[in-house]
Amino acid sequence: MANHTYTPKRVMVIAAHPDDIEFSCAGTIARWVREGAEVCYVLCTSGDVGILDPHITKEEAMRIREAEQLAAAAVVGVTNVVFLREPDGMLEPTIALRKRLVREIRKFRPDTLLCGDPQALWAGSGYINHPDHRAAATAAIDAVFPAAGMPTLFKELEAEGLTAHKTYKVYVMAWDKNDTFVNITDTIDLKIEALKKHVSQMNGWDPAERIREWAANEAKGKEMEYAEGYRVITFDDALPKAEEQPQVAEVAAAMPPHAPQDS
Ligand SMILES: [Zn+2]
Repeated sequence: MANHTYTPKRVMVIAAHPDDIEFSCAGTIARWVREGAEVCYVLCTSGDVGILDPHITKEEAMRIREAEQLAAAAVVGVTNVVFLREPDGMLEPTIALRKRLVREIRKFRPDTLLCGDPQALWAGSGYINHPDHRAAATAAIDAVFPAAGMPTLFKELEAEGLTAHKTYKVYVMAWDKNDTFVNITDTIDLKIEALKKHVSQMNGWDPAERIREWAANEAKGKEMEYAEGYRVITFDDALPKAEEQPQVAEVAAAMPPHAPQDS
C-alpha cells in the first residue's frame, strides 16, 4: 500500500457526467494543480437528463450542467474542460467513443489519466453503479491502453496533427482494491466547494459531511486525515522523456501514408 508521492505534470480525467469528478477525485486534482500540474477534464455526456424537472428540456439541462461543471472545475484551478455531448443515460463504450477519447488523449498528451472502474457494479445494498459510469470507464481504459499509443490505429487522426501517445500512469477510481491513497487533507474544502457548484444536483443538500466521511474512511490506518484512493497502473515503457518526442514524430512522418480507417 503506497502513500502518494508522485506528482504528475499533465493530467486528464475522463468522466461520464458533470459532478462525477467532484464526487470522486477533485481533492487529488486540486492538490496536483497546486503542485503545478496542467489538467484537462473530458466529460462524455453533459448530464442532459440529470435534472428531474419535466419543465426543463434536455437542451436547457445541458446548458445548466455544463455551466456548473465549468464553475466546479474553476474552483480547483482547472479551465480546460472538453464536453463530448454524448447522450446522457445512453452512453455506450463503442469504437466511435474510443476514437473520440483517443483524439483527446493524443491532443492533450497526459502522463497520467484518471477514470472510473469498469468493474464497479455493486456498492453495498443500496446502490448500483450507473451504466454511463461503467461505459465511460470502459471507453477510457480501452482508449488509453493500448489504442492511443498505437501509431497505425486511428491513423487518420494524423490529419489533425495528432500522433500516437502513451500514458505513463492510469489512476482508476476503484471502489475496492485501492493501492494508492492521495492525501487530500489540505484540499478537501476545495473538493466540497467544487461539488456544491452542481446546484441542480444538490436539491438543497449539503454534501460536506458525506464527503468528509468518505475521505476519512479512505484515510483510515494511514498517516493522513482525508484521502482519495485509487488502483494505479504504471506503464514503465511510457515514462515521459521529453527529448524522445521529436524522434517519435519524425518516424511517424517518414512512414508511407495508409488509407483512412473506418471509424
Ligand atoms: Zn454520474
